[in-house]
Amino acid sequence: MFDDEKIEAGIRLLLEGMGEDVNREGLRETPERIARMYHEIYGGLEMTPEEILSKTFTAANNEMVLEKDITFYSTCEHHLLPFYGKAHVAYIPNGKVVGISKLARTVEVYARRPQIQEQLTAQIADAIMEYLKPQGVMVMIEAEHMCMTMRGVRKPGSQTVTMVTRGAFAENRELQDTFLRLAK
Ligand code: ZN
Repeated sequence: MFDDEKIEAGIRLLLEGMGEDVNREGLRETPERIARMYHEIYGGLEMTPEEILSKTFTAANNEMVLEKDITFYSTCEHHLLPFYGKAHVAYIPNGKVVGISKLARTVEVYARRPQIQEQLTAQIADAIMEYLKPQGVMVMIEAEHMCMTMRGVRKPGSQTVTMVTRGAFAENRELQDTFLRLAK
């Protein structure tokens, strides 16, 4: 899916647009390096949550499962600058669970794309709802946006917090409070 030649040409053009000499030593291999890097940092574009969440196990009980402090790195699609932080993902099983590492991998699938934080939060929750069919899902993301700290309003350390509830979590204040208390 990635067209490396196009990416490299684009980076060259970008540098030229800034008046840079794309043939100077430091920049000569930059387009190629960036194309290679994009396979990694935008690798989520080539992955689906299905391959991660389709393998499930029968659950003995249906108590809340919470994976907290999942570190992630993503890229803001408005500025192509990083935003990064922690995701907390919980669900209440409906007879089925997935391996714990699969929640972190689901975060990766959506983080490694041009993104906005609100959408990232919702996509994680919706993928778990779709493939695991749990009673409910809650996802909270706390992130620092480089487009807020190295440009624009320049507020280093400020955190953007987004939250999404689905199913049982959407209707139940007590469940939300439990999630928030555990995620702290
Ligand atoms: Zn931005």
